Amino acid sequence: NQPIAQLDPEVAERIDAELARQRRGLEMIASENHTAVAVMQAQGSVLTNKYAEGYPGRRYYGGCEEVDVVEQLAIDRVKALFGAGFANVQPHSGAQANAAVMHALIRPGDTILGLNLAHGGHLTHGMKINFSGRLYNVAAYSVDEETLTIDMDEVERLAREHKPQLIVAGWSAYPRQLDFARFRQIADEVGAYLMVDMAHFAGLVAAGLHPNPVPHAHVVSSTTHKTLAGPRGGIILTNDAEIAKKINSAVFPGQQGGPLEHVIAGKAVAFKVAASEEFRERQQRTLRGAAILAERLTRPDVAERGISVLTGGTDVHLVLVDLRNSELDGQQAEDLLARVEITVNRNAVPFDPRPPMVTSGLRIGTPALATRGFGEEAFREVADVIAETLIAGTADGGADEATLAGLRDRVTVLADAHPLYPELAPLA
Ligand code: PLP
Repeated sequence: NQPIAQLDPEVAERIDAELARQRRGLEMIASENHTAVAVMQAQGSVLTNKYAEGYPGRRYYGGCEEVDVVEQLAIDRVKALFGAGFANVQPHSGAQANAAVMHALIRPGDTILGLNLAHGGHLTHGMKINFSGRLYNVAAYSVDEETLTIDMDEVERLAREHKPQLIVAGWSAYPRQLDFARFRQIADEVGAYLMVDMAHFAGLVAAGLHPNPVPHAHVVSSTTHKTLAGPRGGIILTNDAEIAKKINSAVFPGQQGGPLEHVIAGKAVAFKVAASEEFRERQQRTLRGAAILAERLTRPDVAERGISVLTGGTDVHLVLVDLRNSELDGQQAEDLLARVEITVNRNAVPFDPRPPMVTSGLRIGTPALATRGFGEEAFREVADVIAETLIAGTADGGADEATLAGLRDRVTVLADAHPLYPELAPLA
C-alpha cells in the first residue's frame, strides 16, 4: 500500500496541479464550489469499499451496520434541512436523480414539459439526445422575448395544450426565482406531477434565502455539489409516502446498483454544515456578490461596448452576461477571462444568434468565491476586473497584453488574500 506519490506519480502530480490551479485563479463557474476538507475526507475513506445495495436496515449485503448509520444520518439531516418527509440520498448525480424521478412517476412515451435548454433548462429536462428526450415526448416552455423571464401564463397555455404527465421547474442558467405555487396550480389543473429541480439554488434554500420548493412540488431533485457545497452527487425529496416508495425502487434497483457510501458520508457532512450559521452567512455573501456583479456589469462604460446582464440583474447566485450586441462572443469572453485566471463558462442566451459552441453569453457565479471568504469589497474588485477585461477585448478576441497583465495581478492579490485549502499538503 504505497502512497499515491510513489504508486502513481502521474496522477498525484495532476491532482497537485489542480489544487494549484484552484488556488491561483478565481472559480466563477456557477455550478461549482470548493467543498469542505471534511467532505473530501469522507469521500476518500474506506466506505468506498462497501457494497450496500438496498436501504438502511434493508440491505442485500452483510456488514452494513456502519454504512447504515451514515446513510441514515444523511437522510435525517437532509429531511430536516429542507423540511421534507422523505429523502433518497443515493443518486450518483443530479442527472441520475432526475432519471429516477421520471422512471418512478411516468412511462416512456408520456409527455414532460420543461424549460427549453437554450433558455436555461438542463439536459435532463428534455434535450433531444438525452435520455429525457429519447424516452419521453417533450414539450418546452421558453422565456418571454421581451422580459427574458418565464411567463407563467405561457406555461399554463402549453400545459393545457400538451397535457403533460410531468412538469419540470428548475434551471441551469436563469437569474430569477420561480413561482412554485403557480407551477403546482398548473400541474394540478392538467393532472401532472410537478418536479422541481433545485440543483442550482439548493444552498440558498437551505439557508432560508430562497423560497423552498418542497411544500409545493410532488418531488424535488437536486445535486449536492453546487451552492450546497457538498460532494458531487444527487438527492430526491418528497412529502408523499406513496411517491417516496416509488422513488426508492426507481433509484435501486431501477437505476443503480450499489450506492456510493463514501459519497453519501460526504453528503451527511455537507448537510450538517448547511444547517449552520456559518453556511447561512456564506450564502448571504454569495447573493450579495452576484448582486454586485450585476451592478458592475451594467456600468455605462460596459454598456457602451454592447455588454449587458440578462433581465438587468439577479435574485440568485449567478449573473448571465448578454453579449448579443457585443463584438466579443461567448467563447472569446471566456478565453479572455481565463487569461486573467478567472474561470467562467460561456453559455447560450435565449434567442442567441451565435452557434452553441460559440454563444453570446457568459454564466458567472459567486458560490465558490463566497466559500473562499470573499466579502463585499473583494466582490466589487473581482466584478471590476471582469468588467475591465471585457472592455479590453477587441473584435478578434484579443486584448492589450499589458492591460491583461495588470488585471491578472489584481486577481493574484485577491487569490492570495483568500487562501484556499491551506491545510492541504501536496501529494507528490
Ligand atoms: N439539474 C440541473 C438543474 C443542473 O444544472 C445539473 C448540472 O448541471 C444537473 C441537474 C445534473 O447534475 P450532474 O451534473 O450531477 O448530473
